[in-house]
Amino acid sequence: MIEVPVTAEGDHDLERMLAAINEDTRIVWVCNPNNPTGNYINEEEFVSFLERVPENVLVVSDEAYLEYVEASDYPATLPLLDRFSNLLILRTFSKMYGLANLRLGFAVGQADFIRQVEPIRPPFNTTTFAQEAAVRALSDQAFVQSCFEKNKVERDRLRTFFEEKGYYVFPSQTNFLLVDLKKNGNDVFQALMQKGIIIRSGVPLGFPSCIRVSLGTKEENDQFITAFEDVIV
Ligand SMILES: *Cc1c(COP(=O)(O)O)cnc(C)c1O
Repeated sequence: MIEVPVTAEGDHDLERMLAAINEDTRIVWVCNPNNPTGNYINEEEFVSFLERVPENVLVVSDEAYLEYVEASDYPATLPLLDRFSNLLILRTFSKMYGLANLRLGFAVGQADFIRQVEPIRPPFNTTTFAQEAAVRALSDQAFVQSCFEKNKVERDRLRTFFEEKGYYVFPSQTNFLLVDLKKNGNDVFQALMQKGIIIRSGVPLGFPSCIRVSLGTKEENDQFITAFEDVIV
């Protein structure tokens, strides 16, 4: 595996990823929006990338956070499947749909490619129950819309909160914020734990001076803000 670091702003470095492709490369993994930064790749950048990846290299577009995206130039990847036979799209019910313990997601790609994956898919890797539940969940787009709006309000509110305190917040399109506190993330994580708030330290995520905060309900985020103000003096 060749890891290509994101840029200082938290973007995928698509040019360096292209340059890192060699004759042994089978798969290029693109996480859009990205975890843990929350940055996204726009349609123009992604299409230009796909145009330059060799046809025999699979490009995986991991779109776990797609439903939270507000940016209007976020790529619509399903139509791109007609143009790029080496594209595979991944989606999940674990995030916006709130069904992480159903353990269900799906891939969309060329029929030929899916046929080749099918024989190595473990038997019973998803349950009928989970699939039934997921189909019901998909039909409830009013729930998705309502979560999108609540999340957007809280994302803007928390971003403003951190920025007013002078911290750099990565430009997240997701349901979390990566914030540079210029302090060891593990220390802030421990201090918040003492107050009953669990966030993620940036240390194991490759951003040692950051924390990643998942957005909750308005009330939960208020509790976070109170605890954070106690911890950071
Ligand atoms: C959560 C997540 C997924 C999906 O996880 P599952 O629960 O296994 O469906 C995929 N990619 C990223 C980047 C994620 O954050």
